[in-house]
Amino acid sequence: MKTTWLKLFSLFLGCFVLLLFTSCGKNNTHEGSITSGKVRWASFPIGIYVDSYLLSDASAKKDLEDAMQFWENKTGKHLFQIQGGWNNGIPVEGSLSEPDSLKGNVIYFMGPWQFFSSAAGNTILMSDQGIIQNSVVFINAEKVYCEGNCATQTNEISRRKLFAHELGHFLGLGHVSETGNIMYPSIEHGADLDSVNIDISALQSVID
Ligand SMILES: [Zn+2]
Repeated sequence: MKTTWLKLFSLFLGCFVLLLFTSCGKNNTHEGSITSGKVRWASFPIGIYVDSYLLSDASAKKDLEDAMQFWENKTGKHLFQIQGGWNNGIPVEGSLSEPDSLKGNVIYFMGPWQFFSSAAGNTILMSDQGIIQNSVVFINAEKVYCEGNCATQTNEISRRKLFAHELGHFLGLGHVSETGNIMYPSIEHGADLDSVNIDISALQSVID
């Protein structure tokens, strides 16, 4: 008798948990799995907290602002609003690979780096029914970056370009296979954002 009740209770609990998951429809997506247009923000601009370490470095802040400007020029919209510094540690609840939730919209400078060692950045989107609720951009603090136009350090990764790439994911854009596009999976040499391409229709699918 006791076992039967226990079985019934387990069944009830299982169904309840399943119902909870299907009805809330929350998903987290890492940048390698993002498909352009599958998820998007409900409205703009989006308030973003930036790692205080990055904000305190004038050249890093400039690179980030240039990257934001890049997307705003392409869309003609005010997309991003820096709300202040982030000092609250890793902005993720649960595991990094499968977060339960994100603590806000944050650009986080991560060291030691806890994702694929070759990656300079990783963006996670948390969405509900196709609408992005929060996004966190992780920047690998263990890589060497060049700032601004990278005039003298042509072999280093352009921080400005990396920010622009990750902000593309932040907006809901996925990778493309065409080189010269800002959403190509690896950050190509050079720091000139005027010469990189974007996929206009993909951008329209997340902005318009
Ligand atoms: Zn990427």
